[in-house]
Amino acid sequence: MSTIALPNATTSIERPSSTPIRAHPALAGMAADPVHKKIFCNPHNHSFQFLSESATVTSVDTSTNFRLPRNIVPTKYAIRIRPDFETFRFTGYELVNIRIDESSSSIVLNATELEIDFAKVDQEGTTHDCRIELDSELERVTLSFEGTLEPGHAVLEITFQGSLNDQLSGFYRSKFTDENGNTHYIATTQFEATDARKAFPCFDEPDLKAVFAIELDTPSDYLAVSNAPDIGTTDLGGGYKRVAFADTIPMSTYLVAFVIGPLEASPPHMSGDTPIRIISKPGQSHLHQFALKAAAHALEFFTDWFSIPYPGSKLDLIAIPDFAFGAMENLGAVTFRETLLLVDPERSSSSELERVVDVISHEIAHMWFGDLVTMKWWNGLWLNEAFATFMELLATDHFNPEWNRWVSFGLSKGAAFGTDGLHNTRPIEFTVVKPSDAEGMFDVLTYEKGASVLRMLERYLGPDTFRSGITRYLNSHRFANAETTDLWTALEEASDQPIAQTMVDWVFQGGYPIVHVSSNDSEITISQKPFSYLSDLARAGINEEESQIGTIWNVPLSVRVGTQLHKFLLGSEPITLPLQNPHDLVIANIGGWGFFRVSYDKELSGRLLANFSQLADLEKFNLASDLWAQTLSLMVGVDHFFELIEAVKDEEDPNLWELISSALHLIDLAASSEKQEAVAKRCNNSLLPILDKLGFEARPDEQEGLARLRATVIEALGTIGHDNETIAECKDLFVKEMSAESDIDPNIVSAVLAVVAANGDEADFAFILDKYRHPSTPQEENRYLMALTKFEHPELIKKVLKMTLGEIRSQNGPFVIASLLSGRTSGVLTWNFLTENWDALLERFPDNTIPRMLSGVAALISDESYSLEGKIRTFFESHPIPTGEKSLKQTLEKYAIYLTFRKRLLETIR
Ligand SMILES: [Zn+2]
Repeated sequence: MSTIALPNATTSIERPSSTPIRAHPALAGMAADPVHKKIFCNPHNHSFQFLSESATVTSVDTSTNFRLPRNIVPTKYAIRIRPDFETFRFTGYELVNIRIDESSSSIVLNATELEIDFAKVDQEGTTHDCRIELDSELERVTLSFEGTLEPGHAVLEITFQGSLNDQLSGFYRSKFTDENGNTHYIATTQFEATDARKAFPCFDEPDLKAVFAIELDTPSDYLAVSNAPDIGTTDLGGGYKRVAFADTIPMSTYLVAFVIGPLEASPPHMSGDTPIRIISKPGQSHLHQFALKAAAHALEFFTDWFSIPYPGSKLDLIAIPDFAFGAMENLGAVTFRETLLLVDPERSSSSELERVVDVISHEIAHMWFGDLVTMKWWNGLWLNEAFATFMELLATDHFNPEWNRWVSFGLSKGAAFGTDGLHNTRPIEFTVVKPSDAEGMFDVLTYEKGASVLRMLERYLGPDTFRSGITRYLNSHRFANAETTDLWTALEEASDQPIAQTMVDWVFQGGYPIVHVSSNDSEITISQKPFSYLSDLARAGINEEESQIGTIWNVPLSVRVGTQLHKFLLGSEPITLPLQNPHDLVIANIGGWGFFRVSYDKELSGRLLANFSQLADLEKFNLASDLWAQTLSLMVGVDHFFELIEAVKDEEDPNLWELISSALHLIDLAASSEKQEAVAKRCNNSLLPILDKLGFEARPDEQEGLARLRATVIEALGTIGHDNETIAECKDLFVKEMSAESDIDPNIVSAVLAVVAANGDEADFAFILDKYRHPSTPQEENRYLMALTKFEHPELIKKVLKMTLGEIRSQNGPFVIASLLSGRTSGVLTWNFLTENWDALLERFPDNTIPRMLSGVAALISDESYSLEGKIRTFFESHPIPTGEKSLKQTLEKYAIYLTFRKRLLETIR
């Protein structure tokens, strides 16, 4: 899956993280339709073919009750589903080929929120009618019968029904309104991690792979899509048709998909033998071309990189108006948020286009990493997600090298550093007993830290060796499952190096080190210690033994001393290197690919700042990022950070300035009203010269990065710096847009809107609201929605808050609230709204987005009385959240860090 990062979704210093899908209140017992019980008789290729006997199933610990017994396993499902678009119920029928390894008089599989009407099992002509026992806590159904199934094969037959829910998980409905104001529905699925069991009874564990043959009964004029190609349509009469799909490869249940609705598909674009289509609601075909291009690029890139053919037989990319995550890698039928797929390159910023290419590449990488080779159990989720993220970066970098994707990944890595420097962090991989434990894994530690650690390993081994290890791994486990140790084995075979021993520190313990470099006239000394933002553990709400930050790491380090290059593994003992010349420049973490921070003594650090232009982009970025982290954790005073800003004033890397402007934003938020002017002055001193150089208008031949830099600088000057000229210029551009005289450059439009809103009135609000309601692209809808969260007038803030309970889609509401929580004026108002409407918000928003919504709480630091902290902690003690308890603890620890920083800042800033 891809996590969600709406532009400007939060002003916290990090990109928001994600957690997964919501468990829904049981729907069993709701009024039922007549069940569709016709016996399954497939005119096409759904004859039962057993998987080859070599398909093995690993023995697992089933003693916890959270794992299904392994005596009976599925080999093939034939499933027919019929959603009803009047009642929003669905009926289903399935035949499951099972293999019996030990004789048994019962079958246990997963099901929840389903009513099972009938079940029987047939072995060699003997039929057993089943008693049906549902266990809602374990989300299981036990089918027991008189007599015994003997080792061999049998066919299980089940009829069932359920409801199309509004929770954006399982089999759910998504709604849209066409241009004539008519409402339409799409019935669609989102199964990862464990929600396939909400749509059909199944063996819902990732290593229980099987072939799927799916049939969908749909209204005659609707489009039906599933994982495999459509192989035939039968008219059922009464305005319905049956669409049959070919058999899939053996795959995990969480990758099954069906999407049915009044949808439109692009003509197929052939990439080799694979047809690629973009599917969306009607009237959006002009937004398909860029996605097609990005998908074709990714498919070709990965086929070549892995040297393994694409495992599906067609590839559909489908935009769903209501979608809780960013995208989902269902084999051959990838689902997306509209904004991450449908895009008009002429009306989008380069960041928006980059994000679309990222997400498309990420999902297509999963077709190999995740779909072809799958983790054995949810503890290995990081293997899927970290790799898809790593591969996404490789592919996007190849798609458009000018985006400097590995440098902008510095910002995402910063988000992982931000969470992983908390005592409430966790290791990348940890034991998962209940499947719901895995729900906390969809976060920056799995995605961004995971990908950073892989990048560190790739750079350490060299790209060719790394690639050959990965290909070896995929080939050894194709159509099957694997775990982390299998990856190390493959990489060890390819590299002849002790990978497992090095990687264990990074994957199985939380946190990361800060490497300290000090010098005298003749040598430098390098040592490590664990990094943390907060030295006072009580402020993190935990005691010392509970801190999840590790103690020591095998650090793959490369250091340049003058012209000498040194590469070694740094362990617990400090390492000393000779200094040829006492004035030599010393850079640790060359290239900037290591997942650790570096601090230098005053002498070395001064030398680096004086020679800043000699560093590589990522080295520059890391130096700033590491210094800001030390500032936030009170290891150095804020003056050091201001010195850095002064030293880098000629730099043009947009990532560097995005980091600096986020830091300035936090400093501004933390400063009391009388200190704000001092912050504004520092902001303007550094940024005005850059804007003077860049101007408001893009030059025709300029590098793409400069457009991003311009946007960052405009927003900071207009909001933190309150610079009158910048505000006036933004208003002027906005007035021209209002009078339809000219459009604002897509690259700066979000920044201009943020500045206008922060200084705006009711008329500006009304215009932005109207644009949000009538957008020309999904990106435009997002931009105007987020601009609505930047107004400072209390009545306007209240209007937006009210919209989160109704008008704003539940997939976006949590981000709107997170953004409002981070505003100086809107923060406390929003906190009050949140506590007053807690139950309604929890009911309305998907579970996985609640931690994202609460991430904004960390920014509630501008309350001058300090009275809020106690109230916030008390509130969450009595209001637990359904999933993402760990994320909430992390948010509260960040809050404590920001408050501690604020206290120090107010004492020191002049
Ligand atoms: Zn993913």
